[in-house]
Amino acid sequence: MKKVLIIEDEPNIRELILYNLEANGFRGIGADDGIMGITLVHIEKPDLILLDIMLPGKNGYDICKELRGEGNQTPIIMLTAKSDEIDKVLGLEFGADDYITKPFGIRELMARINAVLRRVEEKEIQIAPGTTIIIDELTIDPERHQVSFRGEKVELTSREFDLIHFLSRNRGVVFTRDQLLDKVWGIDYAGETRTVDVHIRYIRRKLGLSEQEDRYIQTIRGKGYKMA
Ligand code: CA
Repeated sequence: MKKVLIIEDEPNIRELILYNLEANGFRGIGADDGIMGITLVHIEKPDLILLDIMLPGKNGYDICKELRGEGNQTPIIMLTAKSDEIDKVLGLEFGADDYITKPFGIRELMARINAVLRRVEEKEIQIAPGTTIIIDELTIDPERHQVSFRGEKVELTSREFDLIHFLSRNRGVVFTRDQLLDKVWGIDYAGETRTVDVHIRYIRRKLGLSEQEDRYIQTIRGKGYKMA
C-alpha cells in the first residue's frame, strides 16, 4: 500500500484528503505544520507528499528545498492557495513534481497523485532489472551477478553487488544512507547508516580505488552517494 503524507494546516482540507486517500487504497498520514511534516517524511518515508505552501513552522517552499537539498527524491505535489503563476513556478523550481490549485476536486487530486506515482515508477524501471550496465570501465551484469572493472572480474558480496547495481540503475541520483538502507537492505532492516559507508568502502577497495580516485560512486558531502 502506497503511503501519502499530507502537510496541511487547515484541518478540514487535511481530514477530507486523508479520508479520500484511505478510500482510494492509500495509507494517509497527516501533519499540520511544516516542522512536523519534515519529521514525518524522515520517520514514515512516504511514497508521495502533498504539500501546502502557507504553513506554520516552515513553509512549503522551504520544506521542498530542504528535502531536495538532503537528496530526498520523494515526489511532491504542492497545494497552492493562490492561482498566481508565481506560486506555481516557484513551487516547481524548488523541486516539486506537480502542483494543484485550491479549490480542487478530490477526483482531480487522486488523478494527479496516480499520475505522479506512475511517472516515478516508469523512471525507476527505465533500466530493466536484467540489463547489463556499462559505465566507462565498469560493467555490471545482473544476470551473472558479476562486476568487472578494467576487464578484470571483481569479487563482490551479494550485498555489495546489490548496492552498486542499485546506484548504477539510478545514475545521477543522490541517495541518502537511509534511502540506500531502505532500497538495498530492505525496509525492515534495522541497521545503522554507517553500514552503507562500510559497504561503499569495501566496494572501492575491491575496485582498487580510493575515495578521491573513485569517479564512479561519488560521495556527496552531507547528503549521501550517487553513481556518476
Ligand atoms: Ca495553509
